[in-house]
Amino acid sequence: MDTKKKDEGILLVVSGPSGAGKGTICSAIRSIYPNLHYSVSMTTREPRKGEVEGESYYFRTNEQFEELIKEDAFLEYARVYDHYYGTPKKYALDLINEGKSVLLEIDIQGAMQVKKRYPKGVFIYIVPPSLKILSGRLHDRGTDSEEVIQKRLSQITSELAMAHQYDYIVVNDILKDAVHKTCSILEAEKCKLSRN
Ligand code: 5GP
Repeated sequence: MDTKKKDEGILLVVSGPSGAGKGTICSAIRSIYPNLHYSVSMTTREPRKGEVEGESYYFRTNEQFEELIKEDAFLEYARVYDHYYGTPKKYALDLINEGKSVLLEIDIQGAMQVKKRYPKGVFIYIVPPSLKILSGRLHDRGTDSEEVIQKRLSQITSELAMAHQYDYIVVNDILKDAVHKTCSILEAEKCKLSRN
């Protein structure tokens, strides 16, 4: 029996500190669930090596981004590490209304805005096993300067204190276990009779 109403899509919101591995977990989830639509965010930060316009992000200038804020084009947006990041509203909401599921990989400020606007969303916070491991991962990744890494590490303690606002916390100690837990959450949510 199909217990889920046809018109219900799941809005899956995944956050976590840089280096917690949320990007890797989200990539794995996307390959396991090809029907889960990934919402490409918009940002004013510079593209990193290998990043592709429209796949990694939509890269825009400050002026362009602020114009879109005025037009109320974002489901949420936030300043993260001195740059704007935002979720284009139309793409995600149109899909949800069509009964499709959507994945947002966004920071905690954005997730809390989405929670207010769309409380039916499923909110998952990915945490590293320890701050020491997190620092090691950020250095190993080699994508950010020491200054950026230190800035990111200093924000994390206050962020962790907000983690209880999420529906689920997944500790990313062993990647395959963290992916498995995230899939289990999604499966459980799909079986729920109702989401309020
Ligand atoms: P990065 O610059 O490393 O790609 O991302 C920095 C942070 O911005 C990450 O925590 C990432 O999840 C977050 N982020 C990416 N896209 C969005 C978005 O659309 N909205 C918000 N609020 N945060 C985002």
